[in-house]
Amino acid sequence: MARDPVCGMKVTEKKATGSSVYLSATYFFCSPNCKTEFDRNPSRYVK
Ligand SMILES: [Zn+2]
Repeated sequence: MARDPVCGMKVTEKKATGSSVYLSATYFFCSPNCKTEFDRNPSRYVK
């Protein structure tokens, strides 16, 4: 189980609609919108 860093929803890797790799970690997203938002400004969502 992974957590969508944009909206905070829990997503399973199977159900995730997208993923991004940032600083050697993989993040999963509940929707393409969340992935787009993350890709636009990843440092805002990763501490
Ligand atoms: Zn989301």
